[in-house]
Amino acid sequence: MVQSVLQFSHALLAESVKQGESVIDATCGNGHDTLFLSNLVGENGTVYAFDIQKQAIESTEQLLQANQRKNTQLIMDDHVNISKHISSAEIAGAIFNLGYLPKGDKKLITKQETTIPAIENILKQLKHSGYVVLVVYHGHPGGKEEMIALLDFSRQLDQKRYHVLKYDFINQKKQPAICTCHSKDIAIYKKRTV
Ligand code: SAM
Repeated sequence: MVQSVLQFSHALLAESVKQGESVIDATCGNGHDTLFLSNLVGENGTVYAFDIQKQAIESTEQLLQANQRKNTQLIMDDHVNISKHISSAEIAGAIFNLGYLPKGDKKLITKQETTIPAIENILKQLKHSGYVVLVVYHGHPGGKEEMIALLDFSRQLDQKRYHVLKYDFINQKKQPAICTCHSKDIAIYKKRTV
């Protein structure tokens, strides 16, 4: 089934993350992905949700409280510092929803200088067959540069360790978000049996 970029990003994580595991929302914004992850890992799991803006942390906290979710650590910090906050945990999956906070300051955007090192750090702690999923908005000033840098970075990753896919609607007039998925240590090339 063809899914929207957001649906597809969640479907990837739903496929790979299990109850009780630890996951990251690297850009919690208004908390929609955080709530999704919180439900996915269940009461015994942990969500680490990052954002640089107080407004985003507060919106996410409100959404979690309204849904009686208690398994999330909200961290007001740059996601480039992820390993300072979760140094030893194995990470089952992560999502980055890039761009600016909807209804917030459009100048406070994610940038390749911090997004790429944050992805590199998470990949080090990512479980076997885990996914780092990116929803990349690129219609705003600075968005295209970030997307190009991310794709360049992803293309040079060792193909023996990582498989990176790009999900992209190519005939839409506006600039729709794309989704990428970095998967680790999975064998996708299998011998045909028939
Ligand atoms: N996932 C969110 C949701 O479900 O509502 C939307 C995220 S919004 C598109 C992008 C967010 O990234 C903004 O809230 C912004 O403050 C945050 N952000 C920008 N740079 C960041 C950084 N270096 N570290 C963490 N968060 C950052």
